[in-house]
Amino acid sequence: MATRKSARAVRATKHDTPFTPIETFYGARSSSVPLTRLEEVRKRSRAFRDELMAESPVLFYKTCELVRVPYPVRFAFANVYTQLPVTTPVLHIVNRLYVVQFASSDGVKTLLFSPSDVLANAETRYFKRLGAGRLAKMEGKVGEMSPEGLIKTAAQKLVAPQGPTVVEWLAKLGLTPADVDYLSYDHLHTQDLRNWLGAERRQAVFPNARLLIMREEWESAQGLIPSQADWYCPNGTRGLDPSKVVLLDGDVKLGAGLALIRTPGHTRGNHSLVARTPEGVMVSSENGVGVDNYAPQHSRINAVRRYAQNLGVEVVLNGNTQESSVDQYISMVQEKEMAGPSARCAEFPNTVTSSEFTAWWLFRGMTPSFNFGDLEFGAVQKPARATTPARAA
Ligand SMILES: [Zn+2]
Repeated sequence: MATRKSARAVRATKHDTPFTPIETFYGARSSSVPLTRLEEVRKRSRAFRDELMAESPVLFYKTCELVRVPYPVRFAFANVYTQLPVTTPVLHIVNRLYVVQFASSDGVKTLLFSPSDVLANAETRYFKRLGAGRLAKMEGKVGEMSPEGLIKTAAQKLVAPQGPTVVEWLAKLGLTPADVDYLSYDHLHTQDLRNWLGAERRQAVFPNARLLIMREEWESAQGLIPSQADWYCPNGTRGLDPSKVVLLDGDVKLGAGLALIRTPGHTRGNHSLVARTPEGVMVSSENGVGVDNYAPQHSRINAVRRYAQNLGVEVVLNGNTQESSVDQYISMVQEKEMAGPSARCAEFPNTVTSSEFTAWWLFRGMTPSFNFGDLEFGAVQKPARATTPARAA
């Protein structure tokens, strides 16, 4: 029988938060029968989507390209290639920042979802083994004008081209770092938060921002086993001021048209950004790396589509760590049902993944069925503190 947790869904370390707990999914995964859990989650996801569609859209929603990174095809489409040769072993994923503004009981708020500190994140062991190590062994320094430095810079641009930084994207929108109220990530793989929130004598880049994170993800990052540690930036959370970390114990409504919903699997403490936009409900995490993961039966990638047809699976996992694959499968169904069909291509759901598989001339042979690319809805809201002119004496 489904049990209800208490309404105590949010626990801040010091500050209390105005977020409303969402009870829709309480107990939906309590059965020991996976199929029962799947169908219960599916049913409730559809109801949740209907609720969100009845709300007004968030005030502003934009996705911004930060960096492209190589990613193994065997991770991107877990298990698809176990009995097949991989003709293109690596594809490119685009990491994007989401700038979302929404009305809350406490006024207009600005949330940055998945704001990667690209340079700091490069310390992640996986990145180092993948290519940064090889780059490091080359002569010269990235950005140096010597022939060796120029070769190294060109090599990095080729393999992992970078776009504007998070702060540069904000400036393009007329926002300052001080305008940011919240940071959130679906999970903490590769993330280093110390520059953003301030730690170990570093000044916070975002002086007014607090991190919104599931308690399980936060606690997990404090004591990783080696298979996980490969993906977490070493010391990425060390020394953060606890008052800047808001630990969530479940699903929450952040404001009109916006929620954070637990979607465990890729990591145990994973959550998704669920936003009502003028183009429907958009759901973001890295349980998948693009629409092909969420509707593999319609994929234009032959191996992915055939795998889905042979096994009868309705999603294909992004499986670099596979902390819990059954949970991840159920969470991905939850995500696609909350999202509903995309207005751009109805065969695929509105799952706008924060790392999106994208065609790249260097890695030929793998093309996604379709991309969302950069999205923008609504108008940027200038927070009061940024627009209030200083009064003349
Ligand atoms: Zn991850």
